[in-house]
Amino acid sequence: MSLIRPAVRDDVALIPGYHSPQLDVAVRLNTNEAPEPPPADFGPRLAEALAGADWNRYPDRGAEALRTRIAEVEGTTPDRVFAANGSNEVLQSLALAYGGAGRRALTFEPTYALHSHICRVTGTEVVSEPRAEDFTLAPDTVGEAIARHRPALVFLCNPNNPTGVAEDPDTVRAALEACGETGTLLVVDEAYGQFAPWSAIELVRGVDDADAVPMVVTRTFSKTWSMAAVRLGYLLGPTWLIEDLERVALPYHLDVMTQAAGELALDYVGEMDRRVSRITEQRGWIEARLAELPVRTWPSSANFLLFRPDDGSGEEVWQALVDRGVLVRNCASWPGLEGCLRVTVGTPEENRVFIDALGLVLNIGQPPLGSAVDAHCPEER
Ligand code: PMP
Repeated sequence: MSLIRPAVRDDVALIPGYHSPQLDVAVRLNTNEAPEPPPADFGPRLAEALAGADWNRYPDRGAEALRTRIAEVEGTTPDRVFAANGSNEVLQSLALAYGGAGRRALTFEPTYALHSHICRVTGTEVVSEPRAEDFTLAPDTVGEAIARHRPALVFLCNPNNPTGVAEDPDTVRAALEACGETGTLLVVDEAYGQFAPWSAIELVRGVDDADAVPMVVTRTFSKTWSMAAVRLGYLLGPTWLIEDLERVALPYHLDVMTQAAGELALDYVGEMDRRVSRITEQRGWIEARLAELPVRTWPSSANFLLFRPDDGSGEEVWQALVDRGVLVRNCASWPGLEGCLRVTVGTPEENRVFIDALGLVLNIGQPPLGSAVDAHCPEER
């Protein structure tokens, strides 16, 4: 029997897949996950909560209890919270509702590759403008680009991935002003927001009519909350936008386990804040060690650092690190990031192994036992 093979959409056929190779190595510092599991009693408490679940029934469609807890922690109201399976699904919901055929999204590169990928998958045209050489973005550049392209959506990332650089508050303010004039939705992706010195959420606090601000801030449980396995993310935005997103979300998209895990995780705010402090302390340690090596780095406000070997040998250095059991993210061939690698902040031990391996690979040699490097590595508490 001859079959006519169904053809994928022409525009989808042109989209390369999005991959982060997972290799079986001892030290995995390539996906910006939390280095520690959730607190010890999280698992047993979750099991207890799920023991009472109505498994034969659909979950709470509006995820009311979860949204109420998120709103309490973020200082807003549940009708300004939308939750989905990872912040990637939140971003996809935004593209489905506000992008699509005949509409355009604006990104400032280099940035998180999924912003443009998700837009293309939803049939949204993507236009991109470059960041400055130090990966910052001037307020004027953003305002001018929004006025010129008149996009339906504009994406910023605070702090940005993979550069780690925080956006300037004035840049976000300028974007917001320009968006207000063009009917554009500003999406500020704060997947790493807890590690940064400021949040775009602050721009909405104290505003008389929060619903008049055409901005959403997206966040995730995958990093600070040590819950990448669960797939839970959310956004804070105007009430009218939450209603629009409910139109595109599939019925019961958040299952009972995800909702329970999210609610429970929010009982550990103090513990998570302490973890953020430990990670930022470790980030400082890595930054100081990198400063002693022949690499360029950029100031990071996230749980990872971007660096580039001075001799441009990013690709070779990546492979040599893998050969020594250390996996970092290989950005060396990404546009605007030529020769760059990105390392996630791990446990103190993982960070030490990474720095020692990098020193060896760059021919700096291994520090002697009990050297300054060992003495200054802040231990986890
Ligand atoms: N935004 C940014 C900037 C990210 O780096 C990531 C994770 N790589 C996400 C969103 C998606 O996170 P998740 O879907 O796990 O919530």
